[in-house]
Amino acid sequence: MAGIYIHIPFCKSRCIYCDYFTSIYEVEMDQYVHSCCIEIKLRKTELSHNKIKTIYFGGGTPSRLHRFHFEKIFETIHSNYKIDSQAEITIEANPDDLSQGYIDMLRELPLNRISIGVQSFDDHELQFLSRRHNSQTAIDSVKYCQEKGFDNISIDLMYGLPNQTLEIWQSNLDKARQLNIQHISAYHLIYEDKTRLYSLLKSGEVKPVDEDCSLEMFEMLISTLKKDGFIHYEVSNFAKDGFVSQHNSSYWKGVKYIGLGPSAHSFDGEHRWWNVSSIPKYIKGISNGKPDLEKEDIDLAKKYNEFLITGLRTMWGIDVDVLKTKFENDKYEYFFKYAEKYFNLNYLVIDKTKVTLSHKGIFIVDGIVSDLMIV
Ligand code: SF4
Repeated sequence: MAGIYIHIPFCKSRCIYCDYFTSIYEVEMDQYVHSCCIEIKLRKTELSHNKIKTIYFGGGTPSRLHRFHFEKIFETIHSNYKIDSQAEITIEANPDDLSQGYIDMLRELPLNRISIGVQSFDDHELQFLSRRHNSQTAIDSVKYCQEKGFDNISIDLMYGLPNQTLEIWQSNLDKARQLNIQHISAYHLIYEDKTRLYSLLKSGEVKPVDEDCSLEMFEMLISTLKKDGFIHYEVSNFAKDGFVSQHNSSYWKGVKYIGLGPSAHSFDGEHRWWNVSSIPKYIKGISNGKPDLEKEDIDLAKKYNEFLITGLRTMWGIDVDVLKTKFENDKYEYFFKYAEKYFNLNYLVIDKTKVTLSHKGIFIVDGIVSDLMIV
């Protein structure tokens, strides 16, 4: 089992909070897709013994691609990899790209899941975030996708925005629920370094929400979506039964994957490596047959840390039997030494061999994980 991630590093404009690797120079798109297809061929042996269970077009904004770009990528993937007939194939899309004609085109491609960057249903918030769509466009885009037959739809939402009240957040959640979609990812706004949002924070033009308000919004998110039948399967992810994201879950479960395109990461169980974060350098490396990349070996301490970080954030938790067999005895003892207080305070719970966060533990997941990590 393995996955393929394809990074599409183009956006029509940049959102105020975004620090992803992406470019607004879409003129490079044809050359980029050409290079991406060469990379697919160059790396075909990396997963030659694996069936591809998930393919994910992420960005950037994959919905900036044209039909012939997708066709070329799919054709190259299919002629170089073994794709499972039931593979989950996702595209991230922005609402303003999802015209009826564009969705018709997407339906003719082998895509079976769409993840729409809605972020908010409040027009003031969308303007503040420099998103190009408004609330109605977001709603229409989801409805068009449903009418055209997409039956596995996810949306992204953001909370903890400056000036966002609990009422606005509740209203966003209610509008999301009314759309009858299968999956929601909801992230707290982060003030990333070198973004316009960060400059506004530093100059005092925006003020972050306080911690109590953030926690209340998170609580509201969990209770609203649970009442609506969503399963809270990862700290930021909620799915209706049968619609957990297979691709993201495979990251959390340590499945092999390759990442294509600049800045994309790959993982083979022992090593992690990533392509250079520059479109010209990426294209040059690929055309020379030598992808420009950096690599890191994952030693046992790093593996242990990743095992904790990824496992504890999910409803599957971590299996202490696996902890014992996969890692040296000292890691197992280390875990229980530092986890003891969280068991005593009922932030962590153990059921047979499975350790998961309790409901109250979810609210301090980052603190718990960093306490249990080996530094
Ligand atoms: S659309 Fe996504 S990737 Fe592009 S600038 Fe906005 S947040 Fe960043």
